[in-house]
This record gives sequence, C-alpha cells and structure tokens, in this order.
Amino acid sequence: MSIKERLENIKLALPKHTTLVAVSKTKPIDEIMVAYNVGHRIFGENKVQEMTDKYELMPKDIKWHMIGHVQRNKVKYMAEFVDLIHGVDSLKLLKEINKQGEKVNRTINCLLQIKIAEEDRKFGLSVEDAKAILNSESFQSFENVHISGLMGMATFTEDQEQVEREFQFLKDTFEEFKTFDLPNYTMKTLSMGMSGDYKLAVDCGSTMVRIGSIIFGERNYN
Ligand SMILES: *Cc1c(COP(=O)(O)O)cnc(C)c1O
Repeated sequence: MSIKERLENIKLALPKHTTLVAVSKTKPIDEIMVAYNVGHRIFGENKVQEMTDKYELMPKDIKWHMIGHVQRNKVKYMAEFVDLIHGVDSLKLLKEINKQGEKVNRTINCLLQIKIAEEDRKFGLSVEDAKAILNSESFQSFENVHISGLMGMATFTEDQEQVEREFQFLKDTFEEFKTFDLPNYTMKTLSMGMSGDYKLAVDCGSTMVRIGSIIFGERNYN
C-alpha cells in the first residue's frame, strides 16, 4: 500500500472527533508531501531542529506539533510557528514557552504530559505534579500559554490489558481535569495512541492520535 492509501484507511477507521497527527519524524520532505497533497495538514515531530527545518521548507498551512521531549533552550526556535506542544512536563518549561510566546506575540497551545507507563524512561508528570502546576500562581499569571489538554504514552508491551488500564487512567484524569475552572485552560484534547495501540486508545476516549510508522513505514535510525 502507498502512503496515500495507508493514510486514508486510518482516517476512515477513526471516529470523527479524533484528530490524526501524522508523525513524520526522520522522514524526508517528499514523503511528507505525499500526505500533504492528499489534504493532510497536521504533522508531528519530536526534535525541534528537524521540525524547524521542515517548517522552513514546506507549505505554511501545515500545523506542526511538537510531540517529543522539549529542552528549554530550544523553545525559542519554534515559538513563532508551533501549533501544539504535547510534552510539557514542568513549570520551568511552561514558563519558558510563555516567555517565548510573549516575544512573538502568540498564545502557544500546550498539553501536559502525564506519566502513565511503567517504564522509567518515559517522561511525564504525576497527576499530583500536574495539579500543582495548574494551581501555581505563576501558571495562572502566564498569558502566552494555553493548556488545552493532556498527553500520555502507554507502556510498550504485548499486554493489552495493561495498555488499556493506562489509557483508562489517563481518560479518568482528563475527565477530572475538565472540572477545573482556571485561566489559560480548557481540557478538550486527550492525546493518546500510536501505531501499535491507537485503536485501544480511541476505545478509551482519545481525541488525538499520533501515528507514524503505519503511515510512512518503519523509521531508520542511523
Ligand atoms: C514517534 C512517536 C509517535 C509515533 O510512533 P509510531 O509508533 O511510529 O506511530 C507517537 N508519539 C510520540 C511521542 C513519538 O515520539
């Protein structure tokens, strides 16, 4: 199957309320343009440098999502154009995003990344830490960031019940967080699900899936 067919099949299988982020990391521009040319506009990258290079070379109506771990010193390179930062996992990072957003006169949309996986290598906040950020005076004074939802990555395992428990935990957290009435805040996006687990994520209430390899093929890391 071609990139076009794979993309179309995935879109057909997703409910209407679920947004597809096509994860294009490591992929060359000509392959990403195949998806663009059949009307896809939302792409996800996990490195600021790579995303910025692609942003500069590609059509300007693309919505670029930063899905990876973000170093604070890199925020300035994407502040002008990034559509959504999925992996916000500290108040310090949020502070930097706010500062850079102010410089370019934008309000930058962010998701708080919640740690739901068992593996230690996965980044993310505990629910308590996420609440502490939201309740902090500094967050509430930030005028150039907007928290629009939560993001999480399940454990990479064959155990479907474990993955389901982790997604269900994030969905429950999302529902709880919807009840908070805060400035610069609306809980509308629940970013969970990748190539291997997106169907389960959708069943558990995901509103945004981040899918790479089953659209563009396996990645080569050299
Ligand atoms: C790479 C990546 C994805 C996509 O992974 P696939 O398994 O290729 O679909 C999704 N989310 C994050 C955070 C990633 O880094």
